[in-house]
Amino acid sequence: MATIAEIILPLPVKSNFHYIAKPDQALKIQVGKRVLVPFGKRKIYTGIIRAISNTPFSASEMDRMREIDEVLDIEPILNERQLSLFDWIAFYYFCTPGEVFKAALPLGLKPESSLKIRLKEPNWHHLTMSDAEFLLMEALEIQTEIDFQTAADIWEIANPRPRLIQMESKGWIELVKWVEETYKPKFKTFLTLTEAYQSRDQLEEAFELVSRSAHQENLLMTVAAAFYKGKSVPKTETLKSLDITSAVSKALVKKGILNEEQVQVDRMDLHGYEPASQDLILTPEQQRAFGEIQGYLSEPSKKPILLHGITGSGKTHLYMSCMKPIIEAGRQILYLLPEITLTKQIIDRIRSVFGDKVGIYHSRFNDHERVEIWQKVRKGEYQIVIGVRSAIFLPFPNLGMIVVDEEHDHSFKQYEPAPRYQARDVATYMGRHFDIPVILGSATPSMETYTNALEGKYHLVELHKRAIAAKLPDIQVVDMRMQRQKRLTKGMFSQPLEQAIRETLERKEQVILFQNRRGYSPYLLCETCGYVPQCIHCDISMTYHKEKGHLRCHYCGYTDFNVQKCSNCSNYTLRRAGIGTERIVESVQEYFPEYVVERMDWDTTRTKHGYANLIQRFENRQIDILVGTQMVSKGLDFEHVTLVGVILADNLINFPDFRAHEQAYQLITQVSGRAGRSTKRGRVIIQTMMPDSPILTHIERPFKDFYQLQLAERAQFAYPPHARMIRVEIKHKDRTFIEAEAMRLYNIMHPSFGANLLGPDYALVPRVRNQYRMQFLLKIGKEISPKKLRTHLEELIDRYFQQAPKKTLRIVVDIDPA
Ligand code: ADP
Ligand code: ZN
Repeated sequence: MATIAEIILPLPVKSNFHYIAKPDQALKIQVGKRVLVPFGKRKIYTGIIRAISNTPFSASEMDRMREIDEVLDIEPILNERQLSLFDWIAFYYFCTPGEVFKAALPLGLKPESSLKIRLKEPNWHHLTMSDAEFLLMEALEIQTEIDFQTAADIWEIANPRPRLIQMESKGWIELVKWVEETYKPKFKTFLTLTEAYQSRDQLEEAFELVSRSAHQENLLMTVAAAFYKGKSVPKTETLKSLDITSAVSKALVKKGILNEEQVQVDRMDLHGYEPASQDLILTPEQQRAFGEIQGYLSEPSKKPILLHGITGSGKTHLYMSCMKPIIEAGRQILYLLPEITLTKQIIDRIRSVFGDKVGIYHSRFNDHERVEIWQKVRKGEYQIVIGVRSAIFLPFPNLGMIVVDEEHDHSFKQYEPAPRYQARDVATYMGRHFDIPVILGSATPSMETYTNALEGKYHLVELHKRAIAAKLPDIQVVDMRMQRQKRLTKGMFSQPLEQAIRETLERKEQVILFQNRRGYSPYLLCETCGYVPQCIHCDISMTYHKEKGHLRCHYCGYTDFNVQKCSNCSNYTLRRAGIGTERIVESVQEYFPEYVVERMDWDTTRTKHGYANLIQRFENRQIDILVGTQMVSKGLDFEHVTLVGVILADNLINFPDFRAHEQAYQLITQVSGRAGRSTKRGRVIIQTMMPDSPILTHIERPFKDFYQLQLAERAQFAYPPHARMIRVEIKHKDRTFIEAEAMRLYNIMHPSFGANLLGPDYALVPRVRNQYRMQFLLKIGKEISPKKLRTHLEELIDRYFQQAPKKTLRIVVDIDPA
């Protein structure tokens, strides 16, 4: 009897595929291991073994079944729990297991991209070889490194492996296999005392030996002091801080006083750290909340817990207190955050309590780093992982708790590509499915979560007071219409904001200025004809970036250097309209030239350490004013920031989406919460043309008031949280075609959904990268089961494709869209 394995392939196909294990593979086959399998005429894919099949297959099925090429792993890289989670994500978010698996694994664990062929014999021109071999060598000479698939393409064969192995055995090429093997750990040199000089007496002797060199004495003193505190001394940093050369340490090594030790370190460490165990002392209110949470955690039914605490109330402190027993029990914790800018501060806080068993996971790590984190999580070497949404895919063997900080944040939702998952919702599913506690925290919970809490589906725990600061910041809304009429503005600043900035800076405190647009101005406007330069590929105006001197489309990246002449009327009358972060910086420089201003947005933080550097410098007070997009709004904790200015709140509020008000409220509350977090009272100034907007009038009121207001508004249209929502988006490059097909799809869906089917309408940006986008919104009663829904919707889409004239329309189903 042959062993048959069910394999998930990284493809958008509905079902998995079966392959036969060769006799010598039978023992290696295990669920969760990767395999190489042939697919179609000439492709080789990496797949994951989902199951060892014991369903009987017919003789003809067996005949068609192909063999597994190779089993890649010695140990499974995914466990059964993970795989069942992936199945659920694929099912709930309307995609295939292959798409989930593709999103979940770091690229480095997908050999199709990491199997590399390199040139080994530089003098190959003189050798006799076949034409095929020659072609490959030639390609290698040009590209230095090519992958498996390229070799297959060059040779136009399905499986280049045998031929490659032959070439390798002749010494012509090198096959660099998997990341795990090519990955080189990074080492760091530490200095310690040799055994001969560790006691006090011996040390005195050592000092005598170095007494003629002040430098040597200095270094020895540093190392010895650290040694008695049980700390290690990193060589490079120490030499630098003592301002001495490596000749000094070399001399001490030569004298047998110091040892150099190579220690493997994580690549992702930004700086050295010392394991510490700072005690967490809770305020009485936090103590009460902690007690409530412990009570809920001891209940057999593990409902998610919503920790609703105002900004600065110490939610982070509380999470850490709740994590402590889990860590002590030796289990793992997933700590989700919406934004990588937050990881730096949080990791410092968490390390100060839990030491060094903490890892970070986000998209700005390169692939080697992500593989490394993956493996450390899998082996349990990381007990805590702080990560953005994709961290839910990590292979925790022993997960004991999930914390979702800033649970309301929309970046927990992935939009493109599939799986279009909501990481917070996946986390609550994991809680139920794996039977572990989940703590959601926010100062401004999402409508959905808060509703769940009020309805008793979640436990609600509240914090009403700031931990250190006596009071919440004082909030002032400034009417910019009035300011402009009276000509009181200076640059981007109203009179009250300008004054407040000046006073704050004079007190040597810091300022955060917020605007949710990057670039200099969101669009240019021709003063002669009213034309606004648009992207040629997308239906959206281009943003003007002054530093780069160009217009750029934020949807497709198209740039245009023509920033003066109107392409409609040919006059040189393009005016810069609207406010972006770059423009605010300019205004600050004009009015506050003696202070240091920096910008924190997508453009200035693209490098891995870019944001960490900015945060570090702001923390060290080397920066006085930080101007930024929503990156500055979330969760950051700066002791000396006492003023937050919102430059113009209007475009947040006016956004045409039913969630716009909720989001604007959350954002403004969040950014306000950055002010006065320590002992000094903070101030917030919000500039707007619409001071009477209910969002602004609710900012200082209790959260529940705003919630009730929104809930009533949403009830009128049966929007979430009253119902669930699904967006069905269609994309095509031909406008007439997409409009006709939208109607065809409408006719198929309408009988099932009736008035709960909205659309078709063009998307907010109707065309992106030359693709038109139209959408339907479906409102689904909460009582309808996801399973029924999926089956039904899938049927309807299949029916559409049976009728469709061409198969070229792309249909994207987005469940619970943000
Ligand atoms: P949140 O996450 O609710 O915004 P944080 O946990 O960041 O609040 O706490 C706000 C500030 O108060 C931080 O600087 C934090 O270190 C401090 N803090 C919170 N709780 C305590 C406590 N019990 N003792 C001392 N400082 C605290
Ligand atoms: Zn574009």
